[in-house]
Amino acid sequence: MRTDVEVSMSNRHAHLTAELVEALFGEGYELHEMRKVGVREFASQETITAYGPKGKVADIRVMGPPRSYCQIELLMGDTYKLGIEAVLCDSGHVDNAADLVLEGPAGKVAVPHCGIVARRHLHLGQVVADQYEVKVGDIVSVRVGGERGVIFNNVIVRSGRSDRCKFHIDVEEGNAAGLRGVTRGEIVSIDERS
Ligand SMILES: [Zn+2]
Repeated sequence: MRTDVEVSMSNRHAHLTAELVEALFGEGYELHEMRKVGVREFASQETITAYGPKGKVADIRVMGPPRSYCQIELLMGDTYKLGIEAVLCDSGHVDNAADLVLEGPAGKVAVPHCGIVARRHLHLGQVVADQYEVKVGDIVSVRVGGERGVIFNNVIVRSGRSDRCKFHIDVEEGNAAGLRGVTRGEIVSIDERS
């Protein structure tokens, strides 16, 4: 089984609630769109700093529009700097996430259960779903080639909006495999059926 996927990497970023945007940037503040990353979602011009028990991480890009919950998606290395446990989470499941103090130009707020390391995942393309019987909830392995090529195991399959499969990892995972920008990979096995 060889199924092509598009690999893209994300850097550390913050999803904030509307209340937190105001607390960190000022009353009535609205985020300024810098770059679109989805149909509705965008990377804003704004960044924040996160503090943990051991240290801080600055320049965390704020994503918009605001969400109903706060989620700070960190790199594994950030969690060492901050002195927090690296909790691997699926987006939106922040019950076990780390407590952080967030700082913006207008204030500093302690936010419980917000710091996570996002679990690597694959957004299923509909064409591929029909062809290969990979289902949402399956755990698959994805191989990327090149001089530092690796096989990424424990990739959770999630739903996707486009025809193509999109494999989402963070920049540390991508750097470890020597990836640059958007690149190609392939699903090499289904390890667990949902
Ligand atoms: Zn994703």
